[in-house]
Amino acid sequence: SEEKSLNFIEEIIENDLKSGKYNQILTRFPPEPNGYLHIGHAKSICLNFGLAARYNGKTNLRFDDTNPEKEETEYVESIKADIKWLGFDWAKELYTSDYFEQLYQFAVVLIKKGLAYVDDSTSEQIAHEKGTPTTPGVNSPYRNRTVEENVELFEQMRAGKFKDGEKVLRAKIDMAAPNMLLRDPLIYRIKHATHHRTGDQWCIYPMYDFAHGQSDSIEKITHSICTLEFVPHRPLYDWLIEQLEIFPSHQYEFARLNMTYTVMSKRKLLQLVNDKIVEGWDDPRMPTISGMRRRGYTPKAIREFSRQIGVAKRENLIDLSLLEFFVREDLNETATRRMVVFDPVKLVITNFEAGEVEYLEGEDNPEATEKTYRKIPFTRELYIEREDFMVDPPKKFFRLAPEKMVRLKYGYIIQCDSFEQDDLGNITQINCTYFPESKSGSGDNTLKAKGTLHWVSATHHVPVTLQLYDRLFTVEDMNSAEGEYKDHLNPDSLIINSHALAEPAILQDQPGQAYQFLRKGYFIQDKHSGANGQPLFNRTVGLKDSWAK
Ligand code: ATP
Ligand code: MG
Ligand code: MG
Repeated sequence: SEEKSLNFIEEIIENDLKSGKYNQILTRFPPEPNGYLHIGHAKSICLNFGLAARYNGKTNLRFDDTNPEKEETEYVESIKADIKWLGFDWAKELYTSDYFEQLYQFAVVLIKKGLAYVDDSTSEQIAHEKGTPTTPGVNSPYRNRTVEENVELFEQMRAGKFKDGEKVLRAKIDMAAPNMLLRDPLIYRIKHATHHRTGDQWCIYPMYDFAHGQSDSIEKITHSICTLEFVPHRPLYDWLIEQLEIFPSHQYEFARLNMTYTVMSKRKLLQLVNDKIVEGWDDPRMPTISGMRRRGYTPKAIREFSRQIGVAKRENLIDLSLLEFFVREDLNETATRRMVVFDPVKLVITNFEAGEVEYLEGEDNPEATEKTYRKIPFTRELYIEREDFMVDPPKKFFRLAPEKMVRLKYGYIIQCDSFEQDDLGNITQINCTYFPESKSGSGDNTLKAKGTLHWVSATHHVPVTLQLYDRLFTVEDMNSAEGEYKDHLNPDSLIINSHALAEPAILQDQPGQAYQFLRKGYFIQDKHSGANGQPLFNRTVGLKDSWAK
């Protein structure tokens, strides 16, 4: 892999290591378990784990589970599986909820320092008093409660004396601060809800800004990397750590990944699932890691993609075809080649004996260093792709036509002698002669054919169902698409083909095997079966970027 210059985070880390500020770096990946991970998270995972690997540090996996109503254990499990699949290992598996007691104590410290107070105002009042970015806010009438009163009220909040929304705990900073987030931000709220791990033990929960930096500090995270929308939160992050006099973790921000034809927010992805627009979180059209896995994308392709796009300091939109490029690049090396005819038309080799079977040898993967082969039955009756035959072809048609020759992959050169049609003009049969001396690998070059076709035996094949996927949305930049994002769904994002025929070797292949169906694209077998229990294959990506220009 080529040497790239350091990105800004790497520069910071190298300086911190050189100056002796840290001996070892510790990063974290902090997902909220309220959905499945998507390709944006994959970017963050590759970044955090990649930095730790590069600088001999470590990465914690921390579930940011401070939102009891939206979080579920199912999501925790899927997140762990996805990170492992991407090829990373965390140093520790941690939960913000494990710090609830510690965080509560931190809040008490702030109260005792006169730096936090219990506010009885409604959320409307609080919002109103906050003012606007150009006008200072107004102090809450509860701002000057005594320390004793605040300690007692906060204890009562914890003890469940109040209803949701009746009181909040706020940091006492500055109601005139130009940064709105410093205008006495909420740090605790009351929520009588069952938490997926702590059950009903708590009815007050820390707000993101209070939980996140403090959790970083508890774990002694050195470089806390997050996305750009947290830039204005950084002064609060630093203020809390400073006032609490705890380990000084530092926050650094990079631009979140946005991709063309894709929505990335978990809220929207959840809607697609709930509205049954897709089959589930792992629908192969979803930008989720589980969807991409089921689609046949590889961890290596995602890691390479993530490295290639690097870390930006400004929002940008990355072309989905770049990810597809890395998928193709990896699969070209690893995919097993098989022949599948998508739209079969019968072809008869008139000089090949009926009932006879010749087993041809086909290389599984010409890119592999260790060669392996499978047997492919060659018979008198075959199927080829309907579009590979034309009665009256244009000049540069290097496929089959009357009197023309082509090579059948792994087999022989054939010549078309005649064809049969039904009343509608549809081709029903193509009659050919084969040339035994032209067998692939025989070294005989007397005959030449410009094109090579894939094919299957008409008597020895496996009917399969294919799911041909395309992008889920029709608009390039979904962040600025007009109207509802669901107005822009691609009606052809899934086309099902249940009349395709595959060579028999696919029945012997390992589950999870990546395929290149010759001349057709990359595929992977799905977890479900297709029509009539047939093997079902998902198109991972086409052989070429059909969307370019
Ligand atoms: P979403 O807004 O899509 O629901 P989120 O940021 O709320 O995502 P979290 O579970 O909080 O999801 O994210 C965990 C980590 O992944 C955070 O550090 C977050 O910054 C990072 N992350 C999320 N989305 C992206 C993205 N599109 N690009 C890069 N990093 C991301
Ligand atoms: Mg978040
Ligand atoms: Mg979110």
